[in-house]
Amino acid sequence: MRPLYMVDTHSQYHKIKHQVDKAVLDVMESTAFINGKAVKEFAGNLAGYLGVKHVIPCANGTDALQIALMALGLQPGDEVITPSFTYIATTEVIALLRLTPVFVEVDAKTFCIDPVAIEKAITPKTKAIVPVHLYGQSADMEAIMKIAEKYNLAVVEDNAQAIGCDFHFSDGTSKKTGTIGHIGCTSFYPSKNLGAFGDGGAMCTNDDVLAEKLRMIANHGQKERYYHEVVGCNSRLDSIQAAILNVKLAYLDDYCKARQEVAAYYDKAFETTDQIITPFKASNSDHVYHQYTIILEGVNRDAFKARLDEKGIPSMIYYPVPAHKQKMFEQFEVGALDLPLTSYLTERVISLPVHTEMDEVQLKFITDTVLSVIENNDN
Ligand SMILES: *Cc1c(COP(=O)(O)O)cnc(C)c1O
Repeated sequence: MRPLYMVDTHSQYHKIKHQVDKAVLDVMESTAFINGKAVKEFAGNLAGYLGVKHVIPCANGTDALQIALMALGLQPGDEVITPSFTYIATTEVIALLRLTPVFVEVDAKTFCIDPVAIEKAITPKTKAIVPVHLYGQSADMEAIMKIAEKYNLAVVEDNAQAIGCDFHFSDGTSKKTGTIGHIGCTSFYPSKNLGAFGDGGAMCTNDDVLAEKLRMIANHGQKERYYHEVVGCNSRLDSIQAAILNVKLAYLDDYCKARQEVAAYYDKAFETTDQIITPFKASNSDHVYHQYTIILEGVNRDAFKARLDEKGIPSMIYYPVPAHKQKMFEQFEVGALDLPLTSYLTERVISLPVHTEMDEVQLKFITDTVLSVIENNDN
């Protein structure tokens, strides 16, 4: 059997090595390493793929979130509502900008921010909502946009885990995640569904004014060289990364499909096992399975993980500590917040390998092993 990894970027590269190598060599030959042709091409192609007016590339997904919040012109102390059950980058940038993160509960089924909890958390200081499309499935963007409209709030989507995912509105129309809120942010970290060979990120918006601000902030606050209108930063997508991403973008739908096939295999294998709760599939969203994350019921997670490790099956806990319990947020006195579902998930979730290069031999070995570990579970 081929070795098992959480992601197999090596095998994925080798399938398209010829194209990727040529794209990289072309950039090297051009020596247009910064904001070269490849960056513009990729931004245009990604905008076309997403069906959005503007794509502004930047250095990574964390920068995308930071620049997005900077573009909203918020004041220190303004409140930003976000889930606690997410990767730290989502919430960290809020505090970095001297804004106040307001951590709310997630939905019991999708693990994405709960619209009901959002509305309850709104105060006169609330200015923005940052939903996260966790594990590759969309938050309830229809409900979130309704709340945002009602209270005049900005919505910045953290789409780092769900690029390629479609959200379906009740009127029958669909949009790509990241293009529904005022600004969408994504990451091209190598293990993401559209991964570069290094760091990368992008913001997207349909709003011309916001697009100009995002562009300016990512470029030292300038529109015209050496005339700096606002305080910005230096956040660029490397030309070499853009060239690679341009090649890989053409495969993104196939990559999503491959991940969905892995998930379908797991779903079926675990269907009748009470100790495993498989990922919920919402009727209003596709799932592009950035992670295949199960909940273990009545199983010691550490022991389970250790048994898989012994068999050469990697697994990960995304995320063992919710944001509101992180020391970095002590100043906000949120440690005692009661988010029971978030706590439950941090104790119970575990993610199994899911990537674009898995074969049936590997999947059978993983599912057989998982089931036998569960059966012999002595807890
Ligand atoms: C990966 C990720 C980010 C940050 O992306 P980087 O490119 O690593 O900075 C932000 N939010 C979520 C949910 C992520 O998974």
